[in-house]
Amino acid sequence: MAEYRYDVVVIGAGPAGEGAAMNAAKHGKRVAVIEDKSQVGGNCTHMGTIPSKALRHAVKQIIQFNTNTMFRDIGEPRWFSFPRVLQNAERVIGKQVKIRTQFYARNRVDLYRGRASFIDENRIEVRGGLNGKEVLYGKQVVIATGSRPYLPEDVDFTHRRIYNSDSILKLSHTPRTLIIYGAGVIGCEYASIFVGLGVKVDLINPGERLLSFLDGEISDALSYHLRDNGVLVRHNEQYDSVVGDDHGVVLTMKSGKRIRADAFLWCNGRTGNTDNLGLENIGLEPNARGQLAVDNHYRTKIPHVFAAGDVIGWPSLASAAYDQGRSASSEIVKDDFFRFITDVPTGIYTIPEISSVGRTEAELTEAKVPYEVGQAFFKDLARAQITGDTVGMLKLLFHRETMELLGIHCFGDQASEIVHIGQAIMNQPGELNTIEYFVNTTFNYPTMAEAYRVAALNGLNRIF
Ligand SMILES: Cc1cc2nc3c(=O)[nH]c(=O)nc-3n(C[C@H](O)[C@H](O)[C@H](O)COP(=O)(O)OP(=O)(O)OC[C@H]3O[C@@H](n4cnc5c(N)ncnc54)[C@H](O)[C@@H]3O)c2cc1C
Repeated sequence: MAEYRYDVVVIGAGPAGEGAAMNAAKHGKRVAVIEDKSQVGGNCTHMGTIPSKALRHAVKQIIQFNTNTMFRDIGEPRWFSFPRVLQNAERVIGKQVKIRTQFYARNRVDLYRGRASFIDENRIEVRGGLNGKEVLYGKQVVIATGSRPYLPEDVDFTHRRIYNSDSILKLSHTPRTLIIYGAGVIGCEYASIFVGLGVKVDLINPGERLLSFLDGEISDALSYHLRDNGVLVRHNEQYDSVVGDDHGVVLTMKSGKRIRADAFLWCNGRTGNTDNLGLENIGLEPNARGQLAVDNHYRTKIPHVFAAGDVIGWPSLASAAYDQGRSASSEIVKDDFFRFITDVPTGIYTIPEISSVGRTEAELTEAKVPYEVGQAFFKDLARAQITGDTVGMLKLLFHRETMELLGIHCFGDQASEIVHIGQAIMNQPGELNTIEYFVNTTFNYPTMAEAYRVAALNGLNRIF
C-alpha cells in the first residue's frame, strides 16, 4: 500500500488541529490533517462552542423581544421552538465550515477524511474515508482529537427523551420541562438557553455551589439570576437512576428525591478522544479520563508526538485549544511564538454572561496578598441604561500597595468582551499593570469600558 509522507501529520480538525496545521504550513512544512467528521471545525464548530453560542444569541434576542416594553407596539410576547432557534446555529456552522475549509485549501494542507490510528510512532492508518484505507508517514505528529461527553453506562442514552450535550442538538421539539444533570459551564449555559425558551428547568448540581472556580460573589450572582429567570437549582444531589418512559424521564437521586420531566439532559463530565487511536502501538497510555499527558512543550513522552486541545485536559476551551495547537507547532518549526498556555480567561455564556481572568478574592486571601476591591455596577452606567442591559458588575482586585491589577471578574452583558480590556493591562510588564491606567486614560463615552474607570476610582477611594 502506498504511503504518503509528510513533515507534520495532525489528527483532528478542531481548533487545536487547525492551529497546529496552519502554523506548520505557513513555515513551509508539508502538512496533512486527518479528520473523521465529514467537515472541518471539530466538535467546537459542530457540537460545542458554536452551536451553543448561536443558540444562546437567538434566545437572548427572544428574551429581549418578550421583555422590552418598546416592542409591544410590534406584537405580543412570542415563544419560539427549540428547532426554530437551532436554525440560527446551523446557519453559523455552515459559514464557519466554509471559511475554515478555505484555510486548509489556501495553505495547501492535505485533508484526509477518516479515522486515524497509529501503526507505529510515525505511521498512521486512515480508515473509513472515500479512498478506503490509507497510510500516512509523519516526521512529527500532533494529536488534537478533542473530547466528547462522558456517558455513564447506567444511563440509557438511546432513549429518545435522554440527551447529552451532543445529541441535544437533534432535539426536534421544545419540551415543557427539562432536567439538566451537571451544573458545570455547559449545564449552566444550557439551563439559560432552555429557561429563555420558556422551558421549566431543574438544574441538578452534584457539587456544593455553581462553578466553584469562580469568584464567590460572581458564582452567587449566577445562582441568583438563574433562579430569578426560573431555573430550580438543586445542590449536592447525585443521581441514583435515570429512567425514561413514553411520556418523560424520572430522575431518582441518592437523597431519595424523585423528579420527573419531559426530557433529561446529561452535562456531567467529558472524556478525551483517545480510544481507537492505536495508542497501545506506540506505548502511550491515557489517564482515566482519556486524556494524554504532555510536557510544557506539548510533547508526549514520545518526543516527536505532540498533543494539544481538549485531549490534554485543562482548560478544555476552544480559545486555549487553538493556541495550544499553534504553540505545539511553534515548537516543531522553532519559530519565536512558542507559549505554554497557563493563563486563560474564563468566558461563560450563561444569561447573564460571566468572564474573569486572574485571581479570585478567595485565592488572594489564602495567599495573604493585601488586596483591595473596586466595583462598578452596570445599572449605574449610561451605556447599560441605554441598552437596557443593567444586570451586571465589574470587579477589579488590585494590590493595595503597588496598585497592580490582580484579578478581573465580570458578569452581565458582554462580560466576555469587557474582560479583555483589563486583561491587556494585567499582562503589561512592571509598573504598567496597575489600575491607575483606568483613571489616567480617556475612554469613549458612553461605553461599557467606562466600568473600568468607575471600578478603579471606587477601589482607589478605599485606599487610606
Ligand atoms: C456545549 C459546549 C459549549 C462550549 N462552549 C465553549 C465556549 O463558549 N468557549 C470555549 O472556548 N470553549 C467552549 N467549549 C469547549 C470547546 O468546544 C473545546 O474546548 C474545543 O472544541 C476543543 O478543541 P479541540 O481542537 O481540542 O477538539 P475538537 O473541537 O473536539 O476537535 C477534535 C476533532 O478530532 C476528530 N477526531 C477525534 N478522533 C479522531 C480520530 N481518531 N481520527 C480522526 N479524527 C478524529 C473529532 O471528530 C473532532 O472533529 C464548549 C464545549 C461544549 C461541549
